[in-house]
Amino acid sequence: MTPIISKLPQTGTTIFTLMSALANEVGAINLSQGFPDFNTSPELIQLVNTAMTDGHNQYAPMPGVMALREQIAQKTEKLYGAIYNPDTEITITAGGTQAIFTAITSVINPNDEVIIFEPAFDCYAPAIKLMGGIVKSLELAPPDYRIPWDMVRRLINNKTRMIILNTPHNPTATILQKEDIDELSAIVKNQDILILSDEVYEHLIYDGETHHSMARYPELRCRSFIVASFGKPFHATGWKVGYCMAPAFLMQEFRKVHQFLVFSVNAPIQYAIAEYLKDENTYLSLPDFFQQKRDHFRKGLEQTRFQLLPCYGSYFQSVTFNNITDQKDSDFALYITKEIGVASIPTSVFYTQGTDHHVLRFCFAKRQETLDKAVDRLLKI
Ligand code: GLN
Repeated sequence: MTPIISKLPQTGTTIFTLMSALANEVGAINLSQGFPDFNTSPELIQLVNTAMTDGHNQYAPMPGVMALREQIAQKTEKLYGAIYNPDTEITITAGGTQAIFTAITSVINPNDEVIIFEPAFDCYAPAIKLMGGIVKSLELAPPDYRIPWDMVRRLINNKTRMIILNTPHNPTATILQKEDIDELSAIVKNQDILILSDEVYEHLIYDGETHHSMARYPELRCRSFIVASFGKPFHATGWKVGYCMAPAFLMQEFRKVHQFLVFSVNAPIQYAIAEYLKDENTYLSLPDFFQQKRDHFRKGLEQTRFQLLPCYGSYFQSVTFNNITDQKDSDFALYITKEIGVASIPTSVFYTQGTDHHVLRFCFAKRQETLDKAVDRLLKI
């Protein structure tokens, strides 16, 4: 057979799969891939049970269960003052990654340019490339990873079709500020530029900071796909349920792809989440819940030789290790997984050029005893 021409010749298996597999293999505490080591709420599990026994076991409607889309519309209006029509502007997806892939696929054509900021979550660039789009990446650097908007301006030309943003940010735990929103608004004004805003950590934001959702700003909302997740807020990453919101003219294209990619998303979980969302405390309590974990973990890490980077949101804490070793971050991550027994993610994997700032990312969505055990081990370095 003629050899297959790979569509993604540079792409291997994702770092999350690799590091989790290694952690399991060597018995390390897994702070690499972002997922909780505690269970989702018994009440939510009961609601899934009820949905199943009530017979919600056949295909959900292609765009998602209406009761869930309505709850999402209400939540979005309450939190961000934005009105989305659940009929035409909200679609339930099989997690954030599918929503991101679908959004990119539905609007990116060959030679369209898409601006991404690195370190970038690893699913953005491959989706752009599969569509024949051109990835224009801008590198951000620790400790603050701020977006240099003057550089963004210089990257823009008549081929620029999309800018991808992520707030709170994975892996850096930074958040967009109002000044970023102002810069962005000025840049896209009167331009044919779409925004894909990955907001899967919207409820994981600390110290009373504001989540600057694109939904808050009419001039941005009108050109944005907003991607959100239920796995992160409800400690159920394995359920793979999320959603996308966009104005109808974009959502129409999104659904054309969605219907052939997954058709629809598993029904009982949608019914259950629709019910669960009726109590706003299910998500309003999250900042406190995770901030406690962040603070506890940071306090522990302060005793180690690592240097902490700020964490404003998400459930990731990054550290630098310049004063420990000059090894590559990927080598050092392997070393501490195998020899110290704590798995992390080396952040150079989120840069196209493999830029290594000697930064490791730890996930703190873990029980206190897991975090304590990890810190005890890291103290040995
Ligand atoms: N979002 C999670 C992380 O950053 C994992 C996603 C995945 O495994 N694809 O760790």
